[in-house]
Amino acid sequence: MFSVPFSRTGRGWHPLVKPSYLLRVIACLVLLVFHIVLRGEALLSPATIWLPITGILWPHLALYLSAKSADGKAQECCNMHVDCALVALTCITTPNLFYWSATFSILVLANSLYVGSYPLLLKNTLIFVATVAAGRSLSGQVEPLNLSAPAGAVLTAFLCFYMGFLSRMSYKMAHQLIHLNKRVHALSITDRLTGCFNRLYLEEKLPTELRRSQRIGYSLAAIFADIDHFKQINDRYGHAGGDAVLRQFIARVEDTIRTGVDWVARYGGEEFVIVLPNTSPEQALVVAERIRLKIADTPFLWEDQPIEVTCSFGVAATGNRPPPQREESTHQDLLAAADASAYEAKRMGRNRCVLGSR
Ligand code: GH3
Ligand code: MG
Ligand code: MG
Repeated sequence: MFSVPFSRTGRGWHPLVKPSYLLRVIACLVLLVFHIVLRGEALLSPATIWLPITGILWPHLALYLSAKSADGKAQECCNMHVDCALVALTCITTPNLFYWSATFSILVLANSLYVGSYPLLLKNTLIFVATVAAGRSLSGQVEPLNLSAPAGAVLTAFLCFYMGFLSRMSYKMAHQLIHLNKRVHALSITDRLTGCFNRLYLEEKLPTELRRSQRIGYSLAAIFADIDHFKQINDRYGHAGGDAVLRQFIARVEDTIRTGVDWVARYGGEEFVIVLPNTSPEQALVVAERIRLKIADTPFLWEDQPIEVTCSFGVAATGNRPPPQREESTHQDLLAAADASAYEAKRMGRNRCVLGSR
C-alpha cells in the first residue's frame, strides 16, 4: 500500500510495523496542523514547541527502531508507550478541548489493547496517567484554545480515517488468519511428493470413518497397496524416476476410485492405503483389481522412458467379520488385516490382489 525508505533483511518486518508507521505519520501531521492552526503565534511558545517537533521526528524514529529490532512486535509495544505519553502531553496542552483529548486518548489506549492485549493496555494507561500527572505539575497554566469549525472538521476526518484504517486492518488480519489456518491444515494432512493424504490424515480420519460405518451399519474397506520391487526402480532410474512413479501411481489410483467418497493416503515410502466407505469385501477386491490392471497394463513414463510397474494389493473390510467382533474392530485391526493380505500377495508372487479371509 505504501513503501518506506529502507527495509529489514532476513526475517522481514513484523506485520504491525508498516501500518503503525502510516498511522503515526498521519497522527503527527494532525498534531502539527492542530498546533499551527490553533496555536498560531503560540506555536513558538517554549511550553509547546517540543510537541510538533517530536511529532515530526517520532514516526520515523519509531519505524527505524522497529526495523532494526530483532523483535518488531516488542519494539512496537515500546513505541506505543511513547505514543501514549505524546497523546497525554497533547491533552495537557489542550485543557479546554476535553472532547478531542478524550477521543484521542481512547483511540491510543484502544490501539494498545489491539496490539498487545490487556498487559499493554495496563502499561500504557499507567504511562498515560503518570505523564498527565507529571506534565500538569511541570507545565503550569496553559492557555485555552479555540477550536474553529475547519480545524474541528480536520480532526473529525482524521478520527474517521484512523478508525476506518484500524477496522480495515483487523478485517484483513482476520481474513489472512483464516486463510493461513486453512493452508496450514491442508499442508499438515497432505503428502508433499504425491499430493495425496499423508499418514497423519490416515490415522485421524480412519477411526472416524470406522465409527461412522459401525454407527450406520455398512462395511468399510481398506486396500493396502505396496509397489513391487520399487527399490529396483530407484536403482535403475534414480530417485527422481522413483518419485515420478509414485506421483503417477497416485494419479492412476485417484482416477479409479470414487471422487469425494473413497480416498487414498500414503502410508510411507511406496506403500499406500486406499479407503472405501460403504464397500463390501468383494466390491473392494474388484476395485483393487481394477487399480492393479490400471497400473500394470500401461507402463509409466519417466523422461520419455517407459517403466514397467506392478503393485501388490491386500484387501480387508469390516464386513469380513461377524457382527460381535465387527463392533469391536478398530482401525488398527483393519489396517493390520489389509497389510497381512498385501504380505500374502507378495508371498504369492506379487502383482496380485488378495482378500483377507477373516
Ligand atoms: P517389495 O516388492 O518386496 O515391496 O520390494 P520393494 O523394493 O518395493 O520394497 P523395499 O522396502 O525393499 O524398498 C522400498 C524402497 O522405496 C526403498 C526406499 O528407498 C524407497 N523409497 C521410500 N520412499 C521413497 C520416496 O519418497 N521416493 C523414492 N524415490 N523412493 C522411496
Ligand atoms: Mg514396502
Ligand atoms: Mg514395495
